[in-house]
Formats: sequence, C-alpha cells, structure tokens
Amino acid sequence: MNAPIAQPVARSLKSVEDLHFAGLIASEDAPSLAAIGDHYAVAVTPAMAALIDPTDVNDPIARQFIPDAAELTRLPEERDDPIGDGAHSPVAGIVHRYPDRVLLKAVHVCPVYCRFCFRREMVGPQGLGTLTLSEMDAAFTYIAGHPEIWEVILTGGDPLVLSPRRLRAITERLAAIEHIKIVRFHTRVPVVEPARVDASLIEALKASGKAVYVALHANHPREFTEDARRACARLVDAGIVMVSQSVLLKGVNDDVETLAALMRSFVENRIKPYYLHHPDLAPGTSHLRLSIEEGQALVGALRGRVSGLCQPTYILDIPGGHGKTVVTATTIESQGGGCYTVTDFRGQEHTYPPVAK
Ligand SMILES: *Cc1c(COP(=O)(O)O)cnc(C)c1O
Ligand code: SF4
Repeated sequence: MNAPIAQPVARSLKSVEDLHFAGLIASEDAPSLAAIGDHYAVAVTPAMAALIDPTDVNDPIARQFIPDAAELTRLPEERDDPIGDGAHSPVAGIVHRYPDRVLLKAVHVCPVYCRFCFRREMVGPQGLGTLTLSEMDAAFTYIAGHPEIWEVILTGGDPLVLSPRRLRAITERLAAIEHIKIVRFHTRVPVVEPARVDASLIEALKASGKAVYVALHANHPREFTEDARRACARLVDAGIVMVSQSVLLKGVNDDVETLAALMRSFVENRIKPYYLHHPDLAPGTSHLRLSIEEGQALVGALRGRVSGLCQPTYILDIPGGHGKTVVTATTIESQGGGCYTVTDFRGQEHTYPPVAK
C-alpha cells in the first residue's frame, strides 16, 4: 500500500482549481482540465484526497476522481443516459424497469464525483438536483399504488448525503407502505466520507422498520481505510446487511491481484460481494473501459484463486434500458454429442464427462 503523500485537506475539493491548490493537478494541466470541470462535476473528499499519491501518475484513486484530458474524447457509441433510466421513469425520481423493484433517486448529489459515472450527465451541482416536495409526493403515490413493488432502492446521486432528518422523512414514509419489504441504499459514503455514518444516520436508515440493505460502491482495496472499516462495522453491527458494488476499471482494478484484494476487503468487512459492473458507455470514459473478454478473463481467474465468498457477479447493463445481464467467465464449450470442454481457473482445459481410462 502506498503511503499517503498529499497534504491533508480539511474540506472536500470541488473544482479543478481546488485540486490544483491541493497539489493533485499539475499547474500545466489545470487550464485544459478546467473545461472538463465546467461540464462534469468534480468533488474529492478529504478521505479520498489523503489516499492519492500525487507522484504516481497511475494512482488508482486519482484515476477515479481527478479529471483527465481523455474525458474530452467522446466516442459515437457513448450516451448521455447509458443505461436508459429515462426509458423507464414514470414519474420524476422513479425508475421502474423490473417488476418487483424501483429506484428512488431523491438526490443527484454525491460526496465524490467518479470520472466514470454512468449518470454523469445527471449528477452534480448542475444536475437534476433534489426532488421537490411535490415530486416526492408523486413518487410515493406511485410506489404506494403499485403493490407489485417489493423493494425500494434509494440511489441517485448518493442518498447518504441527505441529512438524517431528510432521510428519515423518506424511510418513515416507506414504513407506511405494507407491500414494501426491502429498503436498499446504494452509497459510497462509508468509504469516502466515513464520519457521516453515525448513530443518527443509522437510525434514519432503519426508520422504515423493513429489512435494510446497504450496497457499498468501492473499487480499490486502498479505499478501506481504518475509518472506512469502522463505518462499515457500525452499519453491520446495527443489523444492516451489506453487499458490494464495484466497477471494473482500466488502470484501477483490472488485474487479478487488485480485484482479489478488493473482494477480500469486502468480505473481511462482512460485506458480501454482489456486483462487478462492466463500465457503462458514459460520455468521455473510453480511457477507463476494457473489453468484455478482458473482464471475463479476470472474473475467471478470481474463481479458485480466492474464496467463493469473494466472487462477485459480473454484470453488463444493456444500453437503452433493457436491464442488467450476467456476463460471467466463459468456462464451458459444447463439443457436440453431450461432450464439453471445461476450462479451470488456471486456464487448463478438461473434457466433460471425462474420457474413461
Ligand atoms: C440496477 C437496477 C436495479 C437493481 O437491480 P438488482 O439486480 O436488483 O440489483 C433496479 N432497477 C433499475 C432500474 C436498475 O438499473
Ligand atoms: S457515487 Fe455513483 S452516482 Fe455518484 S458520481 Fe460516483 S458513480 Fe456516479
């Protein structure tokens, strides 16, 4: 693990200028990166700034949060709404793509802005903002009127940036809806701003009285600082089930050792690896994407190398709003006649069923 070298910062860095003053962007790069900062939101919390080694041009934490000139390159296949949220949004803030669950996007603000964000055109200070009271009423009317909705997933943005009071206003309304059994939060807060995870936040998360799940988004094992580990422990000790979400990113976690260490970090913190996302076709993110084949090789190598508890499901969100699909490693190939070639985690091939000796 690299020792943190950046000067400690007291407040979140929220512009290219802030990052430059903190020594996280070189003077010669600042003018060209300003254009990116004008278009896509920038924020790095003190916890994440402290993890960046500014002398390492390939720093995996910097790569996730510090604007890069490559973001100006937009490929034709990239989209403003890469996973097609808009195609399934019956009312503001609700995405209802699958019958039994909805996304409730109450807020479009995050404590950090990821350079690869799939909602980068919607989040940030110039993004879709926070739902108004009447939009919130309409969202709850929609949820209450659809008894097939079993689970509400609070995402955004990052719902844990809301004050405990505002979060509680949401979770208490969910308490009143009988058919909702599960409340899930998608967040980066326990890692990027662990001090927010205090008793009042936890109470607010649990105020629905439903089964509460927190899906933690983290992409590199170095993100699990002592403070982050303590924040996760507070959530799990409070009876909240935690699962993981990571994005497979070129130059961040696209090697087996890093990916294995990341998944082990989740499990060591009592967080069950859930999804490993293939990077979405978000605008200006091609420098962070790898091929599906590279992803398949990586998840194939994880199997066997680390505990079964550490295996995430490799997921591709089909552009246009068609939902998620499981990619998995290709380990079995039909040879016809009921015979198969199976590849093990070392890459060795075997015949199935085995040929009698
Ligand atoms: C990803 C997503 C979900 C959650 O999917 P799970 O497979 O249950 O984790 C729900 N709704 C929408 C619109 C999504 O994009
Ligand atoms: S925390 Fe999630 S929603 Fe926010 S910028 Fe990162 S990927 Fe996007």
